[in-house]
Amino acid sequence: MFTKILIANRGEIALRVQRACREMGIATVAVHSTADADAMHVRLADESVCIGPPSARESYLNRSAIISAALITGAQAIHPGYGFLSENADFAEMVEAHGIAFIGPSPTHIRMMGDKITAKTTMLALGVPLVPGSPGEVETLEAAREIAAHIKYPVLIKAAAGGGGRGMKVAQDEAGLEDAFRLARAEAQAAFGNNAVYIEKYLDKPRHIELQVLADNHGHVVHFGERDCSLQRRHQKLLEEAGSPVITAAARDALGKIVTDALQKIGYRNAGTLEFLYQDEQFSFIEMNTRLQVEHPVTEMVSDVDLVREQIRISAGEELGYSQSDITFRGHAIECRITAEDPETFAPSPGLVSLFHPPGGLGVRTDSAIYAGYRVPPHYDSLIAKLIVHGRNRPEAIARMRRALDEFAISGIKTTIPLHRRILEDPAFIAGTYTIHWLERFVAGEDGLKDGA
Ligand code: ADP
Repeated sequence: MFTKILIANRGEIALRVQRACREMGIATVAVHSTADADAMHVRLADESVCIGPPSARESYLNRSAIISAALITGAQAIHPGYGFLSENADFAEMVEAHGIAFIGPSPTHIRMMGDKITAKTTMLALGVPLVPGSPGEVETLEAAREIAAHIKYPVLIKAAAGGGGRGMKVAQDEAGLEDAFRLARAEAQAAFGNNAVYIEKYLDKPRHIELQVLADNHGHVVHFGERDCSLQRRHQKLLEEAGSPVITAAARDALGKIVTDALQKIGYRNAGTLEFLYQDEQFSFIEMNTRLQVEHPVTEMVSDVDLVREQIRISAGEELGYSQSDITFRGHAIECRITAEDPETFAPSPGLVSLFHPPGGLGVRTDSAIYAGYRVPPHYDSLIAKLIVHGRNRPEAIARMRRALDEFAISGIKTTIPLHRRILEDPAFIAGTYTIHWLERFVAGEDGLKDGA
């Protein structure tokens, strides 16, 4: 087992990884930008190294600085967290070339799934169902027209290198196709330096269901059930649940079997998440994330497994030591992503946190790196806390989340806590009948009411 791990990230996820390391008796090295010198992930680490100025490009994305920090401190492994370099195959390769373990999949698998077109063709060949769409890249408007006419409108143009909901445009009909096609390509080029796009049928009422998997280096692959991440704004998740209110144990087992068989065939290792759209009782694969996800805690709460600990054990060459039938699920978990944003306009709200009192009590977990007196910097993602609750069933988890949100006190900055409170009171949420399009309308409807009043 490793004795020292460098965590190439910041915020709550850097702390999350530190916690697993500490419980395993592994020393931690934090890296930070000059803007984060006082951050909690730096204070709580055994050692820390400043890797550059505030801009992420020069610090948390600075591959040589991070690898130098690992070499100087004698860290044997690097955990990338999520975001930043976590899905960068070149970085994983560089890390390994320096004799350091990358806590994640092989560079080959990161690359394979990082290109969504390759990911889809690979999954199709492995018997995983896909959303109807183009078999590969769509290079011309004429080709786009042909495919759209075949799969029927509305269609979605998506970037092969996409992520974070960028490079994605809907065309409702043929008249809108040209604009959507050109815009998606331009956005993809600007955001990812790659203008390759493909086309999918735009589903009108799907849920976003994803499956958490773990694979060791000895050919064992297991899944930890599904998460329902249908509550999204601009294709970004806001609230997640495990399990999904609409997935039966039989459907979960069937999907789990297809997915674990597929990953075994390609020799995948470490943690991963396969994302699906679920509509009319059909699962359709959309992409795979080759890293730990923001919403992993809801899975941990219902399966009682520390996924980061498992990632570290796998990277150190250990066997999983359990099989699918040993994994059971207990109760229901919900996560609310709390960001430093105006809850109505979503304008960023960085600044000084004057008061911070997270909720507690039975079944409540707060993953956060902020504290009273901390200044939320304007340079990074606006996520400041993840509030996770567990209950014996969904109604109990909902009641607990409402109670926890009411207890949560953060002053000095605006947060999305009021929005979460409203969602948790809404009949569509309580009934569990929402689709991926619901939240957008919920937010717009509230705005509309306000304007009309
Ligand atoms: P990204 O990697 O940018 O997050 P994804 O492929 O994971 O992109 O899609 C993000 C979200 O966009 C999905 O969770 C879903 O809400 C929506 N989406 C993606 N594909 C489709 C589709 N074919 N039809 C309807 N919505 C979709």
